[in-house]
Amino acid sequence: MNYAGTMKFKVNEIFKSIQGESSFAGLDCAFVRLSGCNLRCSYCDTAYAYKAGRYMSIDEIVSKTASLDTHIIELTGGEPLWQPNTRELIDALVNLANGRARKTEPDIIKPRLLIETSGSMPIENINPDAVIIMDIKTPSSGCSQMMLLDNLNHIRPVDEIKFVIGDRKDYEYSRKMILDHRLTQRCGVLLSAVYGRIEPRKIIGWMLKDMLKARFQLQMHKYIWPVDKKGV
Ligand code: SF4
Repeated sequence: MNYAGTMKFKVNEIFKSIQGESSFAGLDCAFVRLSGCNLRCSYCDTAYAYKAGRYMSIDEIVSKTASLDTHIIELTGGEPLWQPNTRELIDALVNLANGRARKTEPDIIKPRLLIETSGSMPIENINPDAVIIMDIKTPSSGCSQMMLLDNLNHIRPVDEIKFVIGDRKDYEYSRKMILDHRLTQRCGVLLSAVYGRIEPRKIIGWMLKDMLKARFQLQMHKYIWPVDKKGV
């Protein structure tokens, strides 16, 4: 399909690996990493995507992503909703994933587009076939005040919310958000550890003590490849 116009997006990298996070962890995935981010989280591991990148049309992005031939596609960043007109790019990537879904034998793993966003950009009116994996930034990120609370009105059961925990204060903040907004009744909820800042078992201990109904996760790719390796 040809997408009209001269619309271009600054792309940091497009690569194939396995999905390292969320309930889709472990599946083959094509990552489309857009450049630029409106936040500066203390633990950011993709600072290389703040500026670097090259401009690509929607057709070029779709063509490169299609060539990677994966079940899952993830639009990430930086912050993937920060550049203008990303809804059009999302529609094109959803079409690609849906085309795959129609060709594949029906099975549990349905080809999907995932969008990994920081929670600081509006998520309303995004193509309903995309799955949104949205951070709620915790205090130690230094960016929790940038969260758009209105986004919680647009989260659906198919989506997932992620808290990245660096210390006990982050955990208490996350627990309060989960309970106050009944998040576990509305979508999947993920708790993750800031790599190298906190022992994962500490968070797990707190979760078990509180019987917190959320899914603990590790950033799988950081345990498979060197932590600062790009393109994995
Ligand atoms: S939102 Fe993501 S890309 Fe942006 S600064 Fe925070 S961790 Fe880094």
